[in-house]
Amino acid sequence: MIIDGHVHLWLRDHLPDNMVRMYLEPLQALKGVMDWEVDIDDVWPEYGATVPKLLEMLDASGVDMAVVLPIDFNLVEQARIGIEEYNTWVFESCAEHPDRTIPFIGVDPQRGEPALRMLDHFASKYDARGVKVYPPTGWYPNDERFRAFFDRVDDLGLVMVTHAGAAWTSLDEKYAEPRFWEEFLERYPDTNLVIAHLGGKWRSQALELCERYPNCYADCSALQGWLPSDPATAESRLREIAERVPDKVSFGTDYPLFELGYPSSMWVDFVKDRPWADEDVKAKLLGGTMRKVLGI
Ligand SMILES: [Zn+2]
Repeated sequence: MIIDGHVHLWLRDHLPDNMVRMYLEPLQALKGVMDWEVDIDDVWPEYGATVPKLLEMLDASGVDMAVVLPIDFNLVEQARIGIEEYNTWVFESCAEHPDRTIPFIGVDPQRGEPALRMLDHFASKYDARGVKVYPPTGWYPNDERFRAFFDRVDDLGLVMVTHAGAAWTSLDEKYAEPRFWEEFLERYPDTNLVIAHLGGKWRSQALELCERYPNCYADCSALQGWLPSDPATAESRLREIAERVPDKVSFGTDYPLFELGYPSSMWVDFVKDRPWADEDVKAKLLGGTMRKVLGI
């Protein structure tokens, strides 16, 4: 079974205007090359990543299931639709395809008590399997203020996925170093943590934590960003995974963020076809490890 451990679903109104604008800016450079127009002031009102579009991508890529990660940016900049409504949309959309989608909760621990209520609500009503958090909204994962949030994640048996690495400019990446999760990993040995994007520029921290803590994992989403210009780097990252942490990293696409530049199906084929590891290690990355993380 192939599992994409890192995808997003959203409608235009679930995202703050500035986030969409910043995402679209680099694409403006392609305007002359590709036959399309992006109106940056109108910020692409039709833009949306829905379950039907996700299923198209999964089918085209030969992927069986995807872990869906909503993100709560709203304390930095409020989207047009609130965070509870956004999460409800994700869970309701995914409920029609339980054999293909595994939705997580997306909430900012800085919300305090309302964040705990969201964990309870989505875990009990929809049997949520995990939660995605995004420290660049302004918080350190080793801050004592979030003890109650982490206790609840642990009590509910949720998997925690954290963003790590670079963040867009209205967010602050100084919070996104994997090392700030060490206290969490020690305090909650029964709760699995997945460090997204292999830790990004802090890859060595992510790999070390994966080596040291049985409950620490990572995903390799966004690595395909190297593929158009420097596929050798992407392959060397995969080789590093095979050598150091062959049973600790899950495949991910970060759908839909790379679709325009490098379709997910090509990323899946790259991982399947290049000789970076034996078939056993490839099978772990492509699904076995995420099944272990989720207990499915
Ligand atoms: Zn992502």
